[in-house]
Amino acid sequence: MILIMLGAPGTGKGTVAGILSKELGIVSVSSGDIFRKAISDKTELGKEVEKYLASGALVPDELTIKVIEARLLEPDLEKGVILDGFPRTTHQAEELEKFLKDNGKSITKVINLVTPKEEIVERIVNRRICSNQNCKTVFNMKLNPPKVEGICDKCGGELIQRKDDKEEVINSRLDTYYTETAPIEKFYEEKGLLYSTQISEKINRLADKVAKDVVELLK
Ligand code: ADP
Ligand code: ZN
Repeated sequence: MILIMLGAPGTGKGTVAGILSKELGIVSVSSGDIFRKAISDKTELGKEVEKYLASGALVPDELTIKVIEARLLEPDLEKGVILDGFPRTTHQAEELEKFLKDNGKSITKVINLVTPKEEIVERIVNRRICSNQNCKTVFNMKLNPPKVEGICDKCGGELIQRKDDKEEVINSRLDTYYTETAPIEKFYEEKGLLYSTQISEKINRLADKVAKDVVELLK
């Protein structure tokens, strides 16, 4: 099974992917996490991509595609994968299509998360993430605060704010999303693969409900 998570930054792709990963027993791969880990490990890849993440721009297609395709060939993904954050341009989507075809695979569904823009900005500025690489639980200082300030409920790890979750970078990330990534919706819609669904506090429809609906949909 191959699932793609689509949606603007801050819609909850990672959270929904995490629930689906447990429910479906397949690994979730986040392109953003791969890049952030490379940056913190100070690898060659990390040095190359740092400036793009800092400004909220996309990492160039060729590099991103190379990194993700290499990851997709690893044995832990044999049963399936949830791709969180890739593809993010039409070119990446086309390349993924070719790659899967060459490997005798195809996309099962594209889950497109839809949230009003005002809610997204509010969500991102309040987002804090567990710094423990094996945990990475996401909290929201307003909606879903930790029991003890700054500390992860699950593992006791320190909560941090992503550098690009600062207000200055959020608008640039959103612009990048609407101009470069949103067109992929049409690409997948035409293939009959797109499942668009609201995820919003306003209508009390959050990650657990969305994930449940996706599991139903896949039955
Ligand atoms: P979000 O969806 O919240 O913006 P991600 O963790 O998915 O966060 O991505 C963080 C950053 O990593 C992006 O702003 C971009 O610089 C880079 N990135 C992640 N995935 C891709 C991709 N598929 N193509 C190009 N750049 C990417
Ligand atoms: Zn934790």
